[in-house]
Amino acid sequence: MVVAVSFFHYNTVVKKSLRELFEKRVVRQGECAVWQGLVTTRGLGVLPFRGTLRTARSVALELAGRKTERGQYAHPTCGNPLCVKPEHLEVTHCGKTAKDYVQRFWSKVEKRGPYECWLWQAYCDPRGYGRFPPPKGRGEQQAHRIAYVLSFGPIPPGQQVLHKCDNPPCVNPNHLRSGTDCENQQDKVAKRRHVFGERCRLAKLVDAQAQDILRRGLAGERTGKLAQEYGVSKNTIRGIVKRRTWRHLS
Ligand SMILES: [Zn+2]
Ligand SMILES: [Zn+2]
Repeated sequence: MVVAVSFFHYNTVVKKSLRELFEKRVVRQGECAVWQGLVTTRGLGVLPFRGTLRTARSVALELAGRKTERGQYAHPTCGNPLCVKPEHLEVTHCGKTAKDYVQRFWSKVEKRGPYECWLWQAYCDPRGYGRFPPPKGRGEQQAHRIAYVLSFGPIPPGQQVLHKCDNPPCVNPNHLRSGTDCENQQDKVAKRRHVFGERCRLAKLVDAQAQDILRRGLAGERTGKLAQEYGVSKNTIRGIVKRRTWRHLS
């Protein structure tokens, strides 16, 4: 009897502190409950507890009275990798789905140096932004937004993911920041991006090529010749040489 009581006591104390630790790190965002605590480089929310690292999702399920067995994995059906709302979690047989998603995502990116643009190699929308289908058709679809979420966590409410490099197909987390729509408009006007319809064309160029265009343009080579050589419009060449686009180049 004594054993049963103390076991019960131990169990409630442990559960309570786990719940407290967990709930302090969760914020409601729309339909989702989003993890604000530690996130691994693979984009998985984790909670250190009693010397072990628990995944935020398995803790969420445990606190809701559902259990994940060894080898099972909770997958967010809403498509938000940091969502820990039990109703949005579906137990699958291994970590394949979400790990696959993250790996597949980065496999479509040409990763370069930390300061260079990392261009999206798969489908781009007409404005030049990369697209990646979310799991089960829900969640973020724009590649740069997904890259932001996987690297920094949820996009702050009411904010957008903006490119410091003004290069829509770029998904280098170092070139992404969150900001308001108003800032974005000011940015666009400042960079005169709104007058160009060259987004997909521009996406054809990689940093090294743009760098070459900049160097040769500044050395006085003809715009038309460079445009022909690189298969882009004269406007694109002028944009680079006059430092309106690709402004992160030096
Ligand atoms: Zn959710
Ligand atoms: Zn970039």
